[in-house]
Amino acid sequence: GCTAADVAAAVRAAAEVVAEHRDELVELDRAIGDGDHGENLRRGFNAVVSALDTSTPDTPGAVLKLVAKTLISTVGGAAGPLYGTAFLRAATALGDAAELGPAEVTTAIEAALGGVVARGKAAVGDKTMVDALDPAVRAATATSGSVAEVLAAAAAGAQAGAASTVPLVARKGRASYLGERSADHLDPGARSTALLLASFARSAG
Ligand code: ADP
Ligand code: MG
Ligand code: MG
Repeated sequence: GCTAADVAAAVRAAAEVVAEHRDELVELDRAIGDGDHGENLRRGFNAVVSALDTSTPDTPGAVLKLVAKTLISTVGGAAGPLYGTAFLRAATALGDAAELGPAEVTTAIEAALGGVVARGKAAVGDKTMVDALDPAVRAATATSGSVAEVLAAAAAGAQAGAASTVPLVARKGRASYLGERSADHLDPGARSTALLLASFARSAG
C-alpha cells in the first residue's frame, strides 16, 4: 500500500514536474487567459514542498490536506481554489487510512473531481480541468489492478481528455471571455491536471 511518506514523495515529485512545465503552462494560459497558470502552480507547489519540509503528516489524507491548505493560501486565480478543493475533498475521502490501495486511490480521484465540479460548476466540454479529470475518474473506475495500474489508467484518461480540449470553445473561466477565439488551443488547467496525474502514476510505478 501507499503510505504517508509515499504520498509526500509523490507530491514532491509533482512539484518538480510543475516547475519543469512552468513556462509551457504560462504559454498555454497566455494564448487564452492571462498567462499566469504556470507561475501560479509553481509558486503553490514550491510552498507545498516548504510545508512538507517543516511538518510530517502521518497519514496520506493528512498529506493531501496540507497540500490543499497550502495551495488555497498561495495560489490565486481560478486554479488555486479549484486544486485546493480537489485535494481537500480527496483528503476527506481518505479519512485517517494509514495506507492506500487501488480502491482508495480511485475514491480520492473521484472526490477530487466532485470538489472541482462543486466549486467551479463546469461540465465536460466546457474546456477546463474537468475535461481531464472526468475521463481520469472513468478510467480509474474501470481499472482493477494495483495502485500503479489505477494511476496509469487515470493519467492516460487525463492525457486524452486534455487533448480533447483543443477544438473546444471555452464556457467557463477567463478563456470563455474569448468566445470562438478560445478554440484551437489546449486548456492550461486540463494540461496541468494531466501532468499531475502522470507524475503521480510515475511515482506509484
Ligand atoms: P486564472 O484564470 O484565474 O488566471 P489560472 O490561469 O491559474 O487562473 O487557471 C486557469 C485554468 O483554470 C483554466 O485553464 C481552466 O482549466 C481552469 N478553470 C477556470 N475556471 C474553471 C471552472 N469554473 N471549473 C473548472 N476549471 C476551471
Ligand atoms: Mg490565468
Ligand atoms: Mg490569473
